[in-house]
Amino acid sequence: MTELKEKLFAALRKCRADIVCCGNISRMRDPAIIKLMPEAKSVICIAYRQLRGTRRGIEEGTVYYQYSTSVETLEEIMIPGALLAGCSVLEEAGFEALPQRRFQLVMNEEEENNFEVDHHEVFRGKKAETILDFETCAVDCGLGEIGFSGSVLTDDFGPSQRWGFIITDAELPPDPLVTPHLCDDCRECVKACPGHALRYEDGKRDSWQCSAYYKGANRSKNPFMPPNAFFNDPERLKVIAGEADLSPERAREIIDQINFYPPMKHGYVSSMCGRACDTACYVHLEEKGVLKRKFKTLFRKRPVWKLPLD
Ligand code: SF4
Ligand code: SF4
Repeated sequence: MTELKEKLFAALRKCRADIVCCGNISRMRDPAIIKLMPEAKSVICIAYRQLRGTRRGIEEGTVYYQYSTSVETLEEIMIPGALLAGCSVLEEAGFEALPQRRFQLVMNEEEENNFEVDHHEVFRGKKAETILDFETCAVDCGLGEIGFSGSVLTDDFGPSQRWGFIITDAELPPDPLVTPHLCDDCRECVKACPGHALRYEDGKRDSWQCSAYYKGANRSKNPFMPPNAFFNDPERLKVIAGEADLSPERAREIIDQINFYPPMKHGYVSSMCGRACDTACYVHLEEKGVLKRKFKTLFRKRPVWKLPLD
């Protein structure tokens, strides 16, 4: 089986996967795996870097499409293509292989939301018990650790990667689990969020609060918000300062009014916050010198900008 694993990993790397790792079924905690494939023996995780340059426009306050477009390209093109290539290697060897990419539009809970897509398109309360918990499975495959913000952190890219899985009945040698060592509880992720969507005590993300501020409800981080935005909203100042505590219903009202930046003609909404929680984490880990992939210069080159509220 070592030979098959080598062949599989070589095929995945040929598809430009940056990190490939494998967990055996006995250590996989997500019950959805066995529901999906009762005979499963191994789960393979493949991860792609999110290019650092795709955050540059948001960092400088100039252009906002590249981050979301790159996420979409990874999720919709690169990862599915690599999963199919990897599955073919396994099936050619006589084993069954089930590709698993993120499913963006189905939420288990009635009031949950995915901030990366249009909330009108999300199906909720579907009890999607056969959809993998991507973070838990990544850790169990040996990709990395879960940070305080809930993002998976790796030695290579910090919080900046996207990934998918192959579930198979081939019994492949597992890779080691990662002992958590990167997240130092600094809470830079919490402090960086323009909408206070991560709870200070435990880092729990409020998915609706996050959705409103991901899309740009904070005036100080949105150069495209006109001066009269939310003019009739009794909580206007709180909303544009990122201090409003939004119920799901209020968040929906706010999100539907944030059309200051032309929408992408794709499935993912433009990120106006630039996933500031993860950027702050990346900056923190880079400044500590703990990331393996080094650049000639640090990502953060200037103080973080902020526009006046009025
Ligand atoms: S910013 Fe700090 S607390 Fe947050 S996930 Fe990164 S290392 Fe952990
Ligand atoms: S920084 Fe953006 S992605 Fe992160 S929690 Fe806040 S709104 Fe959500």
